Amino acid sequence: MKKIAIIGGGLSGLYAATLLENNYNITLFEARERLGGRVYTVDGFDLGPSWIWPHQNRIVELVRSLGLSIFRQYRNGEALYETPQEVQRFNPAPNAPSGRIIGGIGALIDQLALQLKRAQINLCETVQMLAQNNDQILLTSNKNEYQFDHVIITLPPRLTLQSLRFDPPLPTELQNRFAATPTWMGHSVKCVIEFETPFWREMGLSGFCFSHSGPMGEVHDACTFDRYALFGFIRSETDMRTIEAQVRQQLQHLFGENASPIIGFHCVDWRKELFSSVEIDARPLMEHPNYGLNSDYLNNKITFIGTETSYHEGGYLEGALASTDKIAHLLNT
Ligand SMILES: Cc1cc2nc3c(=O)[nH]c(=O)nc-3n(C[C@H](O)[C@H](O)[C@H](O)COP(=O)(O)OP(=O)(O)OC[C@H]3O[C@@H](n4cnc5c(N)ncnc54)[C@H](O)[C@@H]3O)c2cc1C
Repeated sequence: MKKIAIIGGGLSGLYAATLLENNYNITLFEARERLGGRVYTVDGFDLGPSWIWPHQNRIVELVRSLGLSIFRQYRNGEALYETPQEVQRFNPAPNAPSGRIIGGIGALIDQLALQLKRAQINLCETVQMLAQNNDQILLTSNKNEYQFDHVIITLPPRLTLQSLRFDPPLPTELQNRFAATPTWMGHSVKCVIEFETPFWREMGLSGFCFSHSGPMGEVHDACTFDRYALFGFIRSETDMRTIEAQVRQQLQHLFGENASPIIGFHCVDWRKELFSSVEIDARPLMEHPNYGLNSDYLNNKITFIGTETSYHEGGYLEGALASTDKIAHLLNT
């Protein structure tokens, strides 16, 4: 069997391993001590992605095929709009209903990993260099050197450019394209606040809040079936050293005496995640980038996939699957 290295154990890399392991000898390299990449679920709460949408056929089908279930994002009731002076209730315009996975998106990663039968998974192994070596690729990691027939890179393009060395170097045109491709949500800071009760629901509120003044610019319901939480995206200019105190103060302003005690607080600053984004990704994006990249290198021996390379739903979980389907189809036929 030919040997393939997959670099990155996020959704793209894991899904690629699933689709290819019957026909190839697969080794997946993951720099972190956990699988999932930008998918990161703690105690059932999503600190990375939360939502999938009904039109996203691949992810909806994958969730179902793995025996997981989708439930509707809670949106019943009024929303809040916060300014420094006041908090107003309003009825937001209806938008496309988003769904969440029972157990969080992390449950999808866990199930995919459990399905793997042959692929070798190397956690805590950071790939550093790829070099052409006759008909093969010499892969150098922080731990070892290996030879592969083919290498699939799933990193966000800017991270590929910054953290992997290539011999011979990537063509300048490709380097420029990678540099110009923002890492989706690389600018984001997401926090989850757990409460004793879903008090906002009891107040006739959906949990959706919109603010120009508090640290959380956008807040949503994040309850699971037996735990009660809100999640918020932190505004980029917020001083992260005192984030928890600021969030508590904002919740006080939003809900006053009605708020029940906070029993848990989690926060991930994705701008600081070295295996997800690069410094320039911290700049907030004004619109969804025009993602998509058809690219391989060294006569198809190195292929780039990952959500940012997908023309279809690029940036989203669905895009990660679409980019993977394309290469798996080519390699399996
Ligand atoms: C806060 C947040 C909210 C989001 N919300 C949504 C949402 O609601 N819906 C949605 O569809 N999408 C959402 N997204 C986007 C979604 O998370 C991504 O589309 C998806 O997870 C990308 O998967 P991927 O495998 O392509 O990339 P990644 O998950 O980035 O995988 C790349 C992997 O490579 C690893 N790696 C990096 N460098 C190396 C190296 N040198 N050697 C080995 N391994 C390496 C990383 O650790 C990582 O595991 C959100 C993202 C964030 C951060």
